[in-house]
Formats: sequence, C-alpha cells, structure tokens
Amino acid sequence: MNEVEQQPRPLKVLEYKARCPLCGKEGVVEEFLYKIPFFGEVLLSTFKCPHCGYKHSDVMSLEESEPVQILYRVEKPGDERALFIKSSAATIKIPEVDIEVSPGLFSQGEITTVEGVIMRVIDVLKYACENSSPACSSKIEYLEGVLRGLKPVTIVVSDPTGVSRILSEKAIVKKLSE
Ligand SMILES: [Zn+2]
Repeated sequence: MNEVEQQPRPLKVLEYKARCPLCGKEGVVEEFLYKIPFFGEVLLSTFKCPHCGYKHSDVMSLEESEPVQILYRVEKPGDERALFIKSSAATIKIPEVDIEVSPGLFSQGEITTVEGVIMRVIDVLKYACENSSPACSSKIEYLEGVLRGLKPVTIVVSDPTGVSRILSEKAIVKKLSE
C-alpha cells in the first residue's frame, strides 16, 4: 500500500470561540474529524489563542474505548512511518534507551507518526541534557540511529483513555482491563 494513501484526510467539522485558560481572552477552537481505517472516527481538537500564543490540542475517539497498551517494533526502514494517534493521556516507553515520557500538564494529543514521536523524544532529551552526560548522548545517538533505519526500537504506549493507536498490522493492542 502506498504510504501517502494511508494518511487519513481530516474533515473540518467545527470552529468556535472559547476563553483562553492562560490569559482569559478569546481564542479559537477548531475540530477535525479523521476516519481511521479499522478503528473508527477520531476527533482532533485544537485551541489557539491569538493574544498570548497558548496552544492546546487533543484527540478523542468517537467510538467506545477502554484502557489500552500498544506494543510496536520498529525493525526495518519504513516502520517508523506508521501513523500514530496519541492522546494527551498516553505514556510512552522506549525500553532500549530506558525512557518513559509521562503525560504532563502541557502534554498534547496529536495525530502524527512513530517517527514524529521519536523526534519529539530526541528534542526533549536534547533539552533535558544540556550539560550532555555520556549516558544522555548515547540515548540520543541510539534514537537518531533508529530514524536512519539502522537500529530497532520498541514503542510501548499506555493510554487510560484508550484513544491512542499506532496504525499498522504489526502493532499489538492489549486491553488493560483484561
Ligand atoms: Zn491566551
């Protein structure tokens, strides 16, 4: 299958004004509907405040969803291009480099790719290890190797809202309630 055809096209369904939680002035909420094959409909909602620049986004499933854990292996070039629906409640673990990214106050929901999430983790690492310890730079080096298709990696996603998905037949989805 062509990679580009796999990308679901968003349909803008709603736009409305809402109060900015940061500065109290008026911002804009936009909602986009994605039809995801074999999963259902997902709503991406983004808030932008033109006054203070605050941004927030999240994804919601329009289907019924239970807490899930997703296991995904990047083993060969191309695996990193799988679409990743990430809710703001998702925790991401990468055991090979001993990293866990927990949802925080400012965590965003997004529709991205596995590659996009790994790039984000590299950014966080670069920011977090400013006085670059050898342990830290070896983690960055490893993940950059993954993006160049040189190293395998495992992505473990836990999501109590059950919205997160990695769209690939290789992804193993486990319901956490079982
Ligand atoms: Zn604002």
